[in-house]
Amino acid sequence: MYNSNKTKELNTYDAIVIGSGISGGWAAMELCKKGFKTLLLERGRNVEHIVDYPTANLNPWDFKYGLNNTLKDREADPVQSNTYNPSTKHFFVSDAEHPYIQEQPFDWVRGYQVGGRSLVWGRQCYRMSDLDFEANLKDGIAVDWPIRYKDLAPWYSYVESFIGVSGQKENLAHLPDGEFLPAMELNYIEKHLGDSIKKNEHNRLLTIARVANLTRGWDHRGPCQNRNLCERGCPFGGYFSSNSSTIPAAVATGNLTLRPFSIVTEILYDEQRQMAKGVRVIDTLSNEVYEFYSKILFINASTIATASLLLNSVSSRFPNGFGNDSEQVGHNLMDHHSSAGAYGVHDQFKDYYYKGRRPCGFLIPRYRNLKDGENLNFKRGYNIQGHGERMEWQDLSYNLNGFGKDFKKQLTTPGDWTVWMAGWGECLPYFENQITLDKIQKDKWGLPLVKIDFSFAENENKMMIDIQQTSAEMLEGAGFKDVEMFNYKKSGGSTVHEMGTARMGHDPRTSVLNKFNQMHNAKNVFITDGSAMTSSSCQNPSLTYMALTARACEFAYQQLKNGKL
Ligand SMILES: Cc1cc2nc3c(=O)[nH]c(=O)nc-3n(C[C@H](O)[C@H](O)[C@H](O)COP(=O)(O)OP(=O)(O)OC[C@H]3O[C@@H](n4cnc5c(N)ncnc54)[C@H](O)[C@@H]3O)c2cc1C
Ligand code: SF4
Repeated sequence: MYNSNKTKELNTYDAIVIGSGISGGWAAMELCKKGFKTLLLERGRNVEHIVDYPTANLNPWDFKYGLNNTLKDREADPVQSNTYNPSTKHFFVSDAEHPYIQEQPFDWVRGYQVGGRSLVWGRQCYRMSDLDFEANLKDGIAVDWPIRYKDLAPWYSYVESFIGVSGQKENLAHLPDGEFLPAMELNYIEKHLGDSIKKNEHNRLLTIARVANLTRGWDHRGPCQNRNLCERGCPFGGYFSSNSSTIPAAVATGNLTLRPFSIVTEILYDEQRQMAKGVRVIDTLSNEVYEFYSKILFINASTIATASLLLNSVSSRFPNGFGNDSEQVGHNLMDHHSSAGAYGVHDQFKDYYYKGRRPCGFLIPRYRNLKDGENLNFKRGYNIQGHGERMEWQDLSYNLNGFGKDFKKQLTTPGDWTVWMAGWGECLPYFENQITLDKIQKDKWGLPLVKIDFSFAENENKMMIDIQQTSAEMLEGAGFKDVEMFNYKKSGGSTVHEMGTARMGHDPRTSVLNKFNQMHNAKNVFITDGSAMTSSSCQNPSLTYMALTARACEFAYQQLKNGKL
């Protein structure tokens, strides 16, 4: 290991942040703004805003096989290729280079680079509410969240005011409104479906998705040009990513040291102070091992990577993994399911042509189990996400016959309006759904392979049936024909909302983190990625990770200022 006394001083910072994705970017920015000399460690390469978006302005015909993955892609990357296409492949890991063990099928979708998955995320931003924060306590499931909506509400506002979220206020207690930029517009068929839902279903409504896309210029970024190519990186900075927003803001303070190509392999424990003293890192360019030290540590490597890092950090004090007195680290893994829904075709409104090029769809907020006594055969709920459009030539070409001019005309005439919609459903925290480390198999860095053992259970399966039925009802109620219910039966992980492997809770015996995301067993360690989540709710979770991060940074700052750390 390369670590002389001389370098010890040089390698010491006020704060270390592990991982530069959505949550780590936030931690780095907040800590730098508070005046901390901060080291941001990222295992992947650097991706600089705009400069490193090689496909941002390419057309489908610029790619050798259009936007289709080849058989070779699918064989080489059986997991990642379900999410990438040739325009985004460079922002995802290679499955062959980054193996893991699936005890049951689980898609672990990853982007190892500066910015993590903030470059490719869908940008949907929804607040959780007390319906979610109180649910575990009410149902006697897992452990109670140690916070309530009022604790996080100001931090949601703080985050939204920085990232920029467009959306429509709807005044719903279970989906609180935020600090919104002007909403994007629903297209004709979506408005028609929304009107029908309003008329027929009294506790439901359809609204435009709330997304971190800038409908007006914002803090030197945007506005969004509605190109809907966000996941390639946006040359206008029209959507929120670490690369476009938090990392440049952290750099601007002069307090950030960004170190890419740095895999954190272990958290180092200081027996005397009973806190973390720093981290051990493999430099993937030189293969050298380094140690870095700091007063506080934020772990933001993303749910599964964070748990594996804790489990790999064993010492005489923590033989089962860092901060794991509760034996909860790695357990309670959750992911939303998004397999079930319905599709329908509408044969009217042919004079309305424009489907709208927007980087988002619509949302039907949760409408199940909002009150006690609904007598459904499952707990919790789901929201519906979907979009409406007219069939295009790709959809039509399968059923058209002909030749020459007439055929061309048929192809260029838009088909019927369609709506596709699916439920994003809550997954309960089951202790058996877990990640562990394999005792024998290692990756090319000598780190134990992660084993993932996850399945959806009866509650999620029953919810999926309800999603299909209520989706079909809403489409039929709005006059759609040929309504088809579907269940893609996607594996866990494929909604890419992994959560729960180092949960927050009141009691150190049953949880890993306290109400400020501070480790019960090592007070200078904070974990604010998805592993902190005590339950999953049904809202897309990243906005909550950001709000938890900003709140934890303020708490850590106060603790340090008051000499408590
Ligand atoms: C296609 C897609 C669409 C999505 N849509 C949405 C959406 O609409 N709304 C939503 O809320 N969420 C969405 N998500 C999920 C969202 O991307 C994640 O919730 C979010 O990125 C998690 O943030 P994070 O900081 O925990 O992890 P990440 O953003 O994954 O960042 C983790 C970082 O840590 C680094 N790292 C890992 N291990 C180590 C280590 N040992 N040492 C150093 N660095 C390490 C990684 O390289 C990575 O850069 C989507 C994801 C995908 C892929
Ligand atoms: S839709 Fe908006 S944010 Fe997305 S790539 Fe286009 S301009 Fe950028």
